[in-house]
Order: sequence, then structure tokens, then C-alpha cells
Amino acid sequence: MTDQTQVFLAIGSNIAPERNIQQSLALLNTIPATRVRVCSSWYSTKAWGIEEQADFINLVVGLSTGLGPRELLIETQRIEARLGRVRHLRNGPRTIDLDILLFGDRVIEDPDLSIPHPGLTARDFMLTPLIEIAPETHHPLRGRRVDALTGEILHRQILGRISPGDRARAMDPRPDRP
Ligand code: AMP
Repeated sequence: MTDQTQVFLAIGSNIAPERNIQQSLALLNTIPATRVRVCSSWYSTKAWGIEEQADFINLVVGLSTGLGPRELLIETQRIEARLGRVRHLRNGPRTIDLDILLFGDRVIEDPDLSIPHPGLTARDFMLTPLIEIAPETHHPLRGRRVDALTGEILHRQILGRISPGDRARAMDPRPDRP
């Protein structure tokens, strides 16, 4: 078997978010040599950047992959394109946003790929779900566990955690039976 790397991805959406997030999770499992291993709670989040837009749902998933970081980026960008992400405005509404937060212990500082993701410790909607699923994960630039880095959060956007019941109702919006 090829070497597997543990990767964490941030997922965000504010256009039909329940459907787009479910579809992105299914599509992540179709990436060659890649499996979704763990999924955080879903968080309702105030929009970042342009604030006059619908709230987001954000979460973090843990993957194992036999791909390299660039190969994985191509695959995640393919999923974004497939789910109809059209870039009109930077930080504007989006059907799906997939960001590679950590790729094992790799550090990459290229113009089109920064790993660890520069927003990871600054944005609560990236760090909080990661700490929920993998608090002991090592941040290769800080040399510390991610759960020791909450003091670096600059942007607090999380409005709350979405309960599994609310999520099910959003996916199947029939009225509650008595
Ligand atoms: P965004 O608008 O946040 O989706 O940014 C997309 C751009 O960020 C793409 O052109 C990527 O090449 C670039 N990028 C840089 N680092 C990363 C990363 N860690 N994960 C995903 N995209 C990245």
C-alpha cells in the first residue's frame, strides 16, 4: 500500500449548505487513494470578509490520502468546480470552499499553496472543529499541539454548533409530526 498521510480539510458553504456539504463529503471519498476518516460537528458561522451575506456552515474533516499535497489540491478544486463554485467576489457567497489546513507535518509556502493554512490559528471556525476531532495534532510551524493555540484566534465567527437533529431537519424539511 502507498504511504498514507493524515490531512485535515476545512469545508464551508453558505449556498444550500446542507446539500453541498453532504455532496462534498461523498465526493471526497471518490478521490483516488483517499478516505474521510473523521468529521467534526457542523458549526453555524457568521460570514467572514463581506458580512452582508447568509451565514455559513463550517466543519473540519480528517482524511487519509496516498496523494501528494498538489495532487490533493487539484482534486479538491475539481470538487469545488463540480459543485458549481463560481468566484464572483473574494470572500463572497460560495457553494463550497475546501481548504487544506494541515498535510501531515509538511510545510509549503508557495504562492498558490500554503500549508499549514495561514488562517488555521486565526479563525475560530477552522481551529475549533480541528481541536474537536484531533486536539493532539502537531502544528509544524508552531511546534505545539493545536489545542494549545487558541490564544492566536483573531476572528471569532462561530455562532453555535448545529445539533444532529437540526441538521436532519434541514436535509429533510418536512414538518415535524406530533
Ligand atoms: P479561497 O478563495 O480561500 O478558496 O482560495 C483559493 C486559492 O487559495 C486557490 O487558488 C489556492 O491555490 C490557494 N491556496 C493556498 N493555500 C491553500 C490551501 N492550503 N488550501 C486550499 N487552497 C489554497
